[in-house]
Order: sequence, then C-alpha cells, then structure tokens
Amino acid sequence: NPRASIASLSESSAGQHLFIRARIHTSRAQGNKMLFLALRQRLSTIQAVLVVNPNTVSKQMVKWAASLPAESIVLVEGTAQQPAVPVESTTISNCEIILQKIHLISGIEGRLPFTLEDAARTAEEYEERDAEGNKVYNSVGLETRLNNRVLDLRTPISQAVFSVQSGVTSLFRSYLESQGFLEIHTPKLQGAATESGASVFKVSYFKGTAFLAQSPQLAKQMAIAADFERVFEIGPVFRAENSLTHRHLTEFTGLDLEMTIEESYEEVVGLLDSLFLHIFSGLNEKFAKEIAVIGKQFPAEPFLWLEKTLRLKWGDAIALLRESGIEIGDFEDLSTEQERTLGALVREKYKTDYYILDKFPLAIRPFYTMPDGADSRYSNSYDFMMRGEEILSGAQRVHDAVFLEQRMREHGIDPASMKGYLDAFKMGVAPHGGGGIGLERVVMLFLKLNNIRRATMFPRDPKRLEP
Ligand code: ATP
Ligand code: MG
Ligand code: MG
Ligand code: MG
Repeated sequence: NPRASIASLSESSAGQHLFIRARIHTSRAQGNKMLFLALRQRLSTIQAVLVVNPNTVSKQMVKWAASLPAESIVLVEGTAQQPAVPVESTTISNCEIILQKIHLISGIEGRLPFTLEDAARTAEEYEERDAEGNKVYNSVGLETRLNNRVLDLRTPISQAVFSVQSGVTSLFRSYLESQGFLEIHTPKLQGAATESGASVFKVSYFKGTAFLAQSPQLAKQMAIAADFERVFEIGPVFRAENSLTHRHLTEFTGLDLEMTIEESYEEVVGLLDSLFLHIFSGLNEKFAKEIAVIGKQFPAEPFLWLEKTLRLKWGDAIALLRESGIEIGDFEDLSTEQERTLGALVREKYKTDYYILDKFPLAIRPFYTMPDGADSRYSNSYDFMMRGEEILSGAQRVHDAVFLEQRMREHGIDPASMKGYLDAFKMGVAPHGGGGIGLERVVMLFLKLNNIRRATMFPRDPKRLEP
C-alpha cells in the first residue's frame, strides 16, 4: 500500500483509505476511549484520532497508543475525513485521519532534551503572558538546540531552512551551467599557508604539515590558466577565525566562481549580479511555503531588491557614512558595524536590501586584486551585500606574471612559497575575475536568521566541533 505524504492531503482526500508513516508530534488522550495525535512529516502535521470502536479499536489499543512518547515513528492506517472546522495553516493539514491501526516503527529511549512543540514556538507565542502578566518564553535557547542538533533539525523551521539552503546551491549550479560554467573540485589540503597566514588551520600530514584551504582562490585561477574559461566550485572552506561572531564559522561552504574576461571586469560583475537575482527570485518562487514557516519564528521584512541593482562606489559609501556622522578614513576597511550602518542607510535611501559595493581601496584587498586602471589607489574589486552584510567578495585578478610577483613582494609574500601558482601565470593566462560567496551567510541573511549557525546543519566554530 502506498504511504501518503501529509503535505499532499487536503479536504478533497476525505474518504480515502490511507497509510502514513510519521512521527508523533503531540499526543493528547481524552478519557480512556479517545486519543488525538498530531502526526508530523517534515513541515507538515495532521490530526489523527484513535477512538474505541467495537470492530477495530480496543480500549487496550488506545491505552497503548497513548503511552507512545512524542517523536516515536509510527505507521498508521485509517480513513481521511474533513475536519469539523476547516484548518487554515501552512503547516497543519486541512484533513484528519480516523485511525484503524497503529504500529510502532521506531521508539524513543530515555527522555528528550526538549519537546518539538517548544522548539517550534512562533514569535507571536513568545508574546504570550501567564495569569500574572509575565511573558511566557518557553522556547529553546540556541546552545541547547545546537547541543541536540538532530532533534532541533526536526522542527518545521529547520526543515524549511535546509530546503532553502539546498535551493540556493541548486539555483547557483543551474544558473552557472546555463552560462557555460564547468563544475570543478579543488584540493582542500595544501602545502603552504598561502593567502593570508593568519587564519589558516595546520594539520599534521604524515611526517610534515599541511594546511586546510581558506578558499579555492588559487586553484580556480589555475583552472583558468588551464583554459577551462568558466569554472565554479561548491565546497568546504576552512578558516581559523578565533572569535565567536554571528556570521563566522571555522568551516563553511563556499560558492566560488572564476571566469575569463573579454573586455572589462563589468562582465564578471554583471554575471554575478544576474546570478544573485536568479537565486532571489528562484527562492521566492520555489520556497514560498518554507519562507512563510521560517517567518513565524524569525519575522523579517521581506527581502527587497531593485530591478536594476544599485552599484555604490567606495567613495560614495564613505560619503554616505560620513553624512550620518560616522568618522572613517578614505581607505579604511569597514567594520561589521559600519557595514550594517551603511546597509541601513542604503535601505532607507534606495529601498533595497541587496547592493554592490564597488572599487575597494587596493590596500585592503589581497595581492592578486587588479588595481583600477583610472586610479590605482582603488581596485577592480567588489563586495556584494545583503541586509547590510557581506555575502561575496570578488575582483578582477592580476594576470601578468611579472606584476603578480611584484604584488606578492609588496604584500610580504615570498614568491617561492607560491611557485605552482606563479608558474601557471608564466605560461600565459587570459584576463579573468570572479568571486566567492558564503552559502550559509546567504541563507542567514535572506531569511534574517540572525545567526549563521541556524543556517548550518552541524556548525563548527572555535567552541564547537560536536555534534
Ligand atoms: P568577513 O569580512 O565577514 O570576515 P571576509 O571578507 O573575510 O568576510 P572573504 O574572504 O571575502 O570573507 O570570503 C568570501 C565570502 O565567504 C564572504 O563574503 C562570506 O560570505 C563568506 N565567509 C567568509 N568568512 C566566513 C566565515 N568565517 N564563516 C562563514 N562564511 C564566511
Ligand atoms: Mg574575514
Ligand atoms: Mg570582508
Ligand atoms: Mg571579503
């Protein structure tokens, strides 16, 4: 017999004989003859009723079913019926099931650290008051959730978050494939701490030492030198970020791309911009239900973007910040706080949560960044921003081997330590550029989850390597 999916049932399913495998979300007995179960699959729950009936359901059966703890996996058999009062909800089915049989498929050992009902409470429910007027805050803290991540991942909100995350990688991949990009895989074990020694993990490698890749930057450029023309990678990125922030992990998923340039780095910016617009509209189109479910616990203004994306030059951004009273030098990098302030100013002035910050000062960018031909204090490099925070950094890259070596020396990097990379350039490479995106950050900011750990299945930070 086919197993029904709760999400596919509706009032028009009434009368159907169904088999459903699901978890017991909640269970409530009424006397010893009747039991109400909420059965859950991913985002969806359905009300199931077990009631004593001389032909099919005994009192013992009701008693036994009532003793099954929440989160048990059961297989039930029954008949769908229309609920007495129509249910209007994105997660609760507008269909009920009158049970004839219930089998236990997988039970629970011991006590659960929290109930899914508590973990799934919505923002409005936080506002509930008890009889004395005290706020009832019965939800579950982030640390408790992360310590018991598997249970927390079962909440409809987490289920929705990871559907959206999967949507981002799928939209990223399908768009780039449509634009002639090749998916590549570059090594995460490296012989030297290349890009910036400060935040690299050292691992023991037989009798020597290896380093975990802080990005696929060098390898993807070498793929361009090898004539692959347009490449992308979805893979892990490791950074020894030794501080706990809402947006840094020690391991995250990088969405990287690199492409050759015909005339100008505008080609890269244009492609990256179209890619993001494709992702945003794809998410709204395909994940409306998930976004609605998440919004109940993490209320957010809908993510705003413009038909034609705002491009803010570095100088304009600094001017905007100064206008609002912030003291900042012309060539100083922005702090997270300043980034957010800028985001708020941009939202107010231009009505967008997504914009491109362009022409960064050369001095605050990596050695491989191409200087701006018109003013070499600046560079052909950019960050893309969502809700006032960085989600992508990218640039046109230096492709001339002699100049590249000079830039390394100016950055205090010994060219001998990057021989393989430099050699690639000595054999000729087309002008090129690209960018790197943080997957978890895009999900966090699109959904306004406020902490990157919520957008990471099993987050890694300086204090967490488990579970
Ligand atoms: P930040 O300024 O936030 O520290 P960054 O400028 O150091 O980021 P890049 O080296 O430009 O980061 O990396 C490209 C992208 O990777 C960033 O725009 C961001 O989306 C993501 N990213 C960078 N560091 C982390 C991290 N520690 N955890 C999660 N995502 C990150
Ligand atoms: Mg950083
Ligand atoms: Mg940055
Ligand atoms: Mg950056």
